[in-house]
Order: sequence, then C-alpha cells, then structure tokens
Amino acid sequence: LSFEDADLSETLTKNVYKAGYVKLTPIQKHSIPIVMAGRDLMACAQTGSGKTAAFLLPILAHMMKSGIAASQFKEIQEPEAIIVAPTRELINQIYLDARKFSYGTVVRPVVIYGGTQTSHSLRQIFQGCNILCATPGRLLDVINKEKIGLSKVKYLVLDEADRMLDMGFMEDVRKLLSSPGMPTKEERQTLMFSATFPAPIQSLAREILKPDYIFVV
Ligand code: AMP
Repeated sequence: LSFEDADLSETLTKNVYKAGYVKLTPIQKHSIPIVMAGRDLMACAQTGSGKTAAFLLPILAHMMKSGIAASQFKEIQEPEAIIVAPTRELINQIYLDARKFSYGTVVRPVVIYGGTQTSHSLRQIFQGCNILCATPGRLLDVINKEKIGLSKVKYLVLDEADRMLDMGFMEDVRKLLSSPGMPTKEERQTLMFSATFPAPIQSLAREILKPDYIFVV
C-alpha cells in the first residue's frame, strides 16, 4: 500500500507528501485500510510508530469525502471527531499533525487541555470545531458546560489507552462514553491505541468497541 492508492483525497495526499512522508510505516499499512473500511480498531502501537497518521488520515479522508460544511462561530460546537490522549504534549502533537494534514480544507481541528484557563479552551472551540483533540478532564469540563455537543461524533479515538489507565483517567473516559448525546458504539467508529494490554484495557475494548473490531499487532 502507498499513500497514492490509500484512497485519500488529493489535498490530503499532497499534505502528506509535504510533511515529508514517503512510505507508510507498518502500523499505517495495517490500520489505514481497516479504518477506511469503517471498522473499529484496537492497535498495539508505541510512540514513534506513526500511529497518529494511522488514525488521522482515514478520518480526514472520510470527512473530506462526506463534504462537511465550513464551521461557523457558535457557542455550542458539534465535532465529527473526538481524539483523547493523556498528556498535553501528546494531544498537542496530534493537533499539530491534524492541522498539517487538513491544511487547505474546511476541516478545523481544535486542541484543549488542562492546566490552562477554561476560557482559553472555550475561545478555541467557539470559532469552529470539527476535530476536537483533548485531554480527558478538560474534555468533560467543556461537555458539562454544554459547549460541546456529542451527537455528531462519528469518530472516537483513544490514544495511549494504557497511559490513561496508569494516570487514573479511566473514570473520565467512562464518563465521556456515557455523556448525554454520545452516539452508541454501533453509531460511531471507535479506535483504540495502546502499547500494552492489561486486563482493564481489554475489558474497556470489549465495552466500547463493536464486537467485530479488528486487533492490529
Ligand atoms: P507518531 O508515532 O505518530 O508519534 O509519529 C512519530 C514520528 O514519525 C512523527 O514525527 C511523524 O511525523 C513521523 N511519521 C509518521 N509517519 C511517517 C511516515 N509514513 N513517513 C515519515 N515519517 C512519518
């Protein structure tokens, strides 16, 4: 599989090459077709494997093909994709990749994380938000403040799930999954990435992924 025959849009392929990517990494080769086909995924992936592009590219390709409208300034935003990661550094890197890949399109990624003023996060959100990149606590905060509506969520990504477990975020993740308006697992596509698979991660996978999810090692 190459970036050309991965069935990404023209703009997306151009942005990928502009980022200096030439060949797909193994995780990208295995995961991109699965995500493009709409399947749920649990992938074993370390930092540095190229896992970020493995989920961002198919999500962006779908969003571009389905022709989303340019987002507008609004007090409540309804993102099509939510990406959750445990640390500020990690979620910011995902956001920067999302910006790079969506350059020249109407897709607007936003990043929010704890340790900053909530008002700062809200200003980012109000301006439009198709892909929300967030740490768990801040995400619940803006959901509880009813600044983010969940009913349009088609893609949910949990990155570094084992670190979220270690850092005590499982409760927050479960609250997110049961927040009002969150589409059921049948209605959304859910992707999990983890370097290790302790029992709580396996049971979370059984809970939040469709029963026919694909496990990529
Ligand atoms: P990640 O594991 O997603 O954090 O990616 C690790 C690093 O590899 C990042 O700096 C990416 O920009 C880079 N990268 C990801 N995929 C590719 C690729 N196919 N070719 C070259 N670099 C890549």
